[in-house]
Amino acid sequence: MQPIINDARLRPILDKVVAGERLSFEDGVTLYRSPDLLALGYMANLVRERRHGNVTYFNVNRHINPTDVCVASCRLCAFGKRVKDERAYTMSLEQVWETAGRGWSEAITEFHIVGGLHPELTLDWYCEAFRGLKQRFPQVHLKALTMVEIAYLAHRTKITAGETLRRLKDSGVDSLPGGGAEIFSERVRRIICDHKIDGSQWLDVARQAHRIGLQSNCTMLYGHIETEEDRVDHLVKLRELQEETGGFVTFIPLAFHPDNTPLRHIPKTTGFDDIRNIAVSRLMLDNIPHIKAYWVMMTPRIAQIAQRFGSDDVDGTVVEEKIYHDAGATTTQSLRRGELLRLIREAGREPEERDTLYRPVVRSETTFTVLV
Ligand code: SF4
Repeated sequence: MQPIINDARLRPILDKVVAGERLSFEDGVTLYRSPDLLALGYMANLVRERRHGNVTYFNVNRHINPTDVCVASCRLCAFGKRVKDERAYTMSLEQVWETAGRGWSEAITEFHIVGGLHPELTLDWYCEAFRGLKQRFPQVHLKALTMVEIAYLAHRTKITAGETLRRLKDSGVDSLPGGGAEIFSERVRRIICDHKIDGSQWLDVARQAHRIGLQSNCTMLYGHIETEEDRVDHLVKLRELQEETGGFVTFIPLAFHPDNTPLRHIPKTTGFDDIRNIAVSRLMLDNIPHIKAYWVMMTPRIAQIAQRFGSDDVDGTVVEEKIYHDAGATTTQSLRRGELLRLIREAGREPEERDTLYRPVVRSETTFTVLV
């Protein structure tokens, strides 16, 4: 079927996509500036179906946020709290383990564990938390701690990020989530998250993780004060690191949620921009296997439509999402497995339950098997 391309600037890009050629920085900027969303979607869908056919992936996971105490005070954030803030919380080890097992009705395949930069929780504390989780839930994959948390723990322990990663891996961490990347532009980072590691440090922690066999996801926070060039620069830097390590599994574009943050004057992203980010990232990140439409952030409705605009994954059941809900997300805090199946099937895709590393999961009522 011949696509209808209304924006003539997209024709040479379509030729490259059809031929399987890599898109340039300038192509990326053109894609972001084009209002021709259907043409973007056509191209992104072509790439997505080449890679994944008609399958959309999901998983059955649980989020655990051990603490919201954070020393960083990023302006983009509504989650982190000061130690003395009476709303702040920090779980004990027992509470982490108890939270992991709470409401254990569907066998969960992944714990997604991230939190604030707590000035007193030590690397040993985290290692003990992960060892305890592995003892209690040996079959569950631990996807834990962002590059930002790892760099902070390394700094406080006075060891390298590489050594920190090795200790975390030895204690049971199986892979890393992709958060904290925000946007790599230093000009933007100085305004939205000036206390955080910079973009090159984020990439370097990811590089070291990949080198010791810890795969990770990667993200980009969009919809605040960044330009189209900043977005493309971010995507190109991720693509370059992927050429070097091959360690990124999934890219997740994250829409900025301004509520309850010092940047609350910035309007929320629109559905158009959310979909465009899915499509452009699928087209630019030709070496990263999966593009996820994170339903918590973009709503289940937009995440469903994204399955026709380049995404091949809707994330999972989640259970108790805090970070986006503190920033005003109006979505539910979890979806049942059956709801995810319906969402995917109604988009005309075939749902496939995966584990964190995209191995097929076969399940009965109370247990599951990962096919390796
Ligand atoms: S974005 Fe992360 S590092 Fe920054 S204040 Fe929030 S929890 Fe802390």
